[in-house]
Amino acid sequence: MWIGVISLLPEMISGAAAAGVFGRAVASGVIQLAVFNPRDFAGDKHRTVDDKPYGGGAGMVMMVEPLRAALLAAKSAAPADVPVVLMSPQGKVFSQSAAVEQSRQAGLILICGRYEGIDERFVSRYVDAEWSIGDYVLSGGELPALVVMDAIARHIPGTLGNSLSVIDESHLDGTLDYPHYTRPVDTEGAKVPEVLLSGDHRKVALHRRREALGRTFERRPEMLVRRVFSDEDRELLKACNHPLDDHDS
Ligand code: SAM
Repeated sequence: MWIGVISLLPEMISGAAAAGVFGRAVASGVIQLAVFNPRDFAGDKHRTVDDKPYGGGAGMVMMVEPLRAALLAAKSAAPADVPVVLMSPQGKVFSQSAAVEQSRQAGLILICGRYEGIDERFVSRYVDAEWSIGDYVLSGGELPALVVMDAIARHIPGTLGNSLSVIDESHLDGTLDYPHYTRPVDTEGAKVPEVLLSGDHRKVALHRRREALGRTFERRPEMLVRRVFSDEDRELLKACNHPLDDHDS
């Protein structure tokens, strides 16, 4: 997948994107990452990219022209006509299903805002979608862009060493993940649940499903509303006192 990022702080993107799972995906060519700095496309010797807002008010606003030029450079580098997404606290909250959906596409261009935001004329003309990573305001779109890139990359074949890793994760099937344990069997008196040592795959799977459903019911009950459950899940939910209603059939 090809990902173009437009950012006034390219070192934030390239630094973080070189590490861990995402870094390995870039190094192995599963992901091609290109970063474009609007400052490199500014039209004056001061490399100006922002100006005061019309109508007054606090802060500065990112200007259309340097952004437009950076976007055109990104579009010409892209292997296909890829969507342009603005990172924005006003956007649709990014989700696991959006990450899966996006991982099947040829690529995308992420725009990172700074200051008070971006001239609205650029947004309305060039942006296809706005994504938020949650209802809070950060100083720039770089961290949100890194968050969504990482979430997307995990679903691209070849990114994770074990392609099964992603299948069990929280949110993929509308539940949270089950708890994990590793060596030693006993730490400060806290033991690994016996069933995980049994070698009985069916019992292990049932135990994990019960834990995942129970944990979701305890921590995020709204995730279980209006869901269709298998007979087995219904039994497991009853065991954790979930009040199955008429919709949960
Ligand atoms: N004035 C804007 C507002 O209230 O909606 C906030 C601007 S914020 C200081 C600067 C940039 O950070 C935004 O243009 C956006 O790119 C990014 N940003 C901040 N919070 C974000 C969030 N929750 N999700 C995605 N991007 C965010």
